[in-house]
Amino acid sequence: MQVHKSATTLESGRQATILIIDDDPDILDALSALLEVESGSYHVVTADSMESAYRVADEVSPDLAIIDISLGGKSGLDIVPFMRRRFPDMICIMMTAHRDVEFAARAIRNGANDYLHKPLDPKTLLTTINHYLEQQAAQRKTSEIEARYKAVFQQTFQMVFLLDADGTILEANDAALMLQKEKRENVINNVFWSAPWLGPANTSTRETLQLFFQKSLNGKTVRSEIRVEDIDGKKHTFDISLKPIVDEQRKTEHVIVEARDVTDYRETQEKLLDLKENLEARVVERTTEVNRARTEAERANRAKSEFLARMSHELRTPMNAILGFSQLLETGSAGELNPDQKEMMAEILGAGQHLLDLIEEILDLSRVESGDYSLQINTVPVDPTIKASVSMVMPDIMKRNIQFVYNPSPESPLVVADELRLKEILLNLLSNAVKYNRDGGTIEVRVEPAEQGRIRIVVEDNGIGIAERDYRRVFEPFDRLDQDYKTVGTGIGLAVSKKLAEKMDGELGFTSHEGEGSCFWLKLPAGKSN
Ligand code: ADP
Repeated sequence: MQVHKSATTLESGRQATILIIDDDPDILDALSALLEVESGSYHVVTADSMESAYRVADEVSPDLAIIDISLGGKSGLDIVPFMRRRFPDMICIMMTAHRDVEFAARAIRNGANDYLHKPLDPKTLLTTINHYLEQQAAQRKTSEIEARYKAVFQQTFQMVFLLDADGTILEANDAALMLQKEKRENVINNVFWSAPWLGPANTSTRETLQLFFQKSLNGKTVRSEIRVEDIDGKKHTFDISLKPIVDEQRKTEHVIVEARDVTDYRETQEKLLDLKENLEARVVERTTEVNRARTEAERANRAKSEFLARMSHELRTPMNAILGFSQLLETGSAGELNPDQKEMMAEILGAGQHLLDLIEEILDLSRVESGDYSLQINTVPVDPTIKASVSMVMPDIMKRNIQFVYNPSPESPLVVADELRLKEILLNLLSNAVKYNRDGGTIEVRVEPAEQGRIRIVVEDNGIGIAERDYRRVFEPFDRLDQDYKTVGTGIGLAVSKKLAEKMDGELGFTSHEGEGSCFWLKLPAGKSN
C-alpha cells in the first residue's frame, strides 16, 4: 500500500480523504497521480486487497472510496455494506469494466452511491468526486446544526413538547419525560391534554389545557400557571406557556408547549406571605397593647401626681397651723411652759418642720412630674451659685468636721439654666454629700469643661458610697436605698433634681463605690458672656 499526501485543502477548510481500492498497481498509481496532480486537494490513500482496504479505512476514516468491482477474485461490492456500517456517510463509487444495467442496480442495492466505467475519464471522475464531496459536506453541516438544536431541546431544564395541529405530541424533551416517568414511545403520539400520566383528579386541568391549545391554534401565545396532580397524587404548580408556530399563510402548524415546575417556589412564597401577614398582625396587636399600656400608665401617673399635689396641698394648711400654734406656745405668749413642756414643744416643732419639708418636696415632685411649672432660663455664673449653695450647708459641714475643697475657676464659667432650680439641684447634691459622708470626711466641688460645649459641675465625697446593685434605684422617687431612719431624707431630692436637669437641657449622673464615696455630676449647656 502507498499513501500519497496532497498539499492543498478543500474550500471547506477540511482536506477530504479518498481511499482507492484496486488490485491493479498501475491503476492505483495512475488514479493517485491524477487526484493529487489534477485536484491537488485530496488526501489520497490506496489499498490493493479487501483486507488492506479494511485496515486502511479503519486507520484514516475516508470520506470517499473508489472501489474496483473485482479484487483478486473477490467482489468489490462486498466491501460496500461493511463500509456503510462503519462509516455511514462515506461515499462509495464503484469502478467496473461491465457496462450492464444489472451491475449498476446491484451496486446501488449494496449501498454504493454511484458507479463509473473503466477506463475512467479523468474529467468525469473528478466531477463526480467533487459533486459527492460537496453534497456530503452540506449534509454534514445540516446534521451538525440539527444535533446542536436537538441538544438544546433535549437538555433544557424546561419541559418542552411539540404538538401538531390536533394537539398530538410529536416531540418531548428529557425534562418532560422525566416528570412523567414515562418512556418516550409512551408519550409521543398521545393527545397532550388526555395524557395518561395526568392523575384522575385533573379533569378541569385537562379542560384548561385544551382551551389553551385552542387559543394557541388561533395564533395566540398563552401563559399561565396551572395546578396538576401527577399519577402518584403529588400536587405540582406549573408555569406553562403555549406558542403557535405558523406557516406562510399564518396558519398554525405546530404548537410549542413549555412548562416549568414552580411548586417549591410557590410554596416558599406562600409560606413567606403567611409569615409576613402573621408578623404584620402581631405587630399591630403588640402596638395596640403597648399603646394601651402607655395610655394606662400615663393616666395612672397623672392620677398619682394629682393625688400627691392635692394631698400635700391639703396637708400644708393644717401643718402650718400646727407649727404656728406650737411656736406661739414655745415663746410663752400663751402662758409660761415648764422645762419639760418646752422640751416636748421643741420635739413637736422639729417633727412638724420635717413633715412640712416633706410636704413641700412632694408638692415639688408632683409639679415636676406633671410639668406644671415654668423655668426662667438665663445665663448664670457658676461660681457665685455654687458659693451660695455651699453657704447653706456649711454649718452641717462644720458640724461633721468635713474637709471642704473648692477652687473657683479663674475663667468664671457660665451656664444656661434657671438659677433657682440650679441652686436647688446643687443644694441637694451638697446636702447628700454631707449626709452620706462620715465625720472628718471630705467633699470636693469642681467645675470643668465637658464635651459638646457643656460645663460639668462635680460634687465628690468620700462617704458611704452606693453599691452597684442599687445604681438603678438612685433616681427612683421615695427610694432611699435602705437608709436607716437616722439619716433624714425623703428619697425625693435626686428624682426631682434629675427631672429638672433634663428640663434645662442638661444631665445628672454619678459614679460610686460602696464604702469609698460617690461622685455626682451635673452637665449643663455652657453660656456666653454678653
Ligand atoms: P434622700 O432624701 O434620701 O437623700 P435623695 O433622692 O436625695 O433622697 O437620694 C436618694 C438616695 O440615694 C438616698 O437615700 C441615698 O441612699 C442615696 N444617695 C444620694 N446621694 C448619696 C451620696 N452622696 N452618697 C451615698 N448615697 C447617696
